[in-house]
Amino acid sequence: MKWAPEAESAIKKVPFFVRKRVRARVEKEAADRGKPMVALTDVKATQRRYLNNMESEVRGYQLDTCFGPNGCPRRAVNSNTLLPRIQALLEKEDLLGFLKKTVPGTLRFHHEFRISIADCPNACSQPQIKDIGILGACVPRVTEEACSRCEACVDACRETAVALTEDDDSGPVIDREQCINCGRCIPVCPTETLATGQQGYRIQLGGKLGRHPRLAMELPGIFSEDDISCVIRDCITLYKQRSRRGERFADLLTAEDVETYARHGRFPGADNPSPL
Ligand code: SF4
Ligand code: SF4
Ligand code: SF4
Repeated sequence: MKWAPEAESAIKKVPFFVRKRVRARVEKEAADRGKPMVALTDVKATQRRYLNNMESEVRGYQLDTCFGPNGCPRRAVNSNTLLPRIQALLEKEDLLGFLKKTVPGTLRFHHEFRISIADCPNACSQPQIKDIGILGACVPRVTEEACSRCEACVDACRETAVALTEDDDSGPVIDREQCINCGRCIPVCPTETLATGQQGYRIQLGGKLGRHPRLAMELPGIFSEDDISCVIRDCITLYKQRSRRGERFADLLTAEDVETYARHGRFPGADNPSPL
């Protein structure tokens, strides 16, 4: 739906963590009224209702994605199944029911559990500041195909992670410490010397903004969609064990917890190791 410029400006002033939801609500309510374009009055009307009725709008979790599924050419992973899968898992975990039981007083958006998916390391949906951040990853693989030494891969890599050696007969060398697995060097290679290796997701835990901001801590490795479901379930179990008054997961998770999970596949005190 089209938006009038002043309506666009007004929606940009809505706090970012609920902007997507308010925007979708504004469009729906304007469409229900048969409007072809969102006007400033539509934004104000929806905003008023939203803020006056905040508790009934809280759904227990926030699940965001980047614009990758809308056709972004930078996607490192082209899966459209992860989002509905995580959504179903979050519904099953009944985080809203949990918050209603544990939070004293009014439920607010800041109590919600936050997960964000970005389909490549550009991280447009800010996974680094969410309780669980998920980033698409595509590991480049050097094949047996002869390299023409065109240097297209070197030019494409913004991390200076791929180089050609002095030896004319050798292929590209990838510095795995520098490489962030964005996959950009793969489609530019005309000889298929570089090909898609492992594809999946990186996982980051415990990021937040607010009074004491912290970037999320990374679990080493590349994870499948099945792995991600296990990690999310384990995180929610830990969150429900530790949260007493609606604290954010990020406030309850320590660096030691993440280290233990990375080593043993379970958080301290958890009964069973996850099948990771
Ligand atoms: S995170 Fe990557 S795939 Fe997603 S919108 Fe940004 S650039 Fe595109
Ligand atoms: S995957 Fe990305 S970071 Fe890694 S070598 Fe290729 S272009 Fe560079
Ligand atoms: S690996 Fe491919 S893109 Fe890179 S120099 Fe060789 S032929 Fe060119």
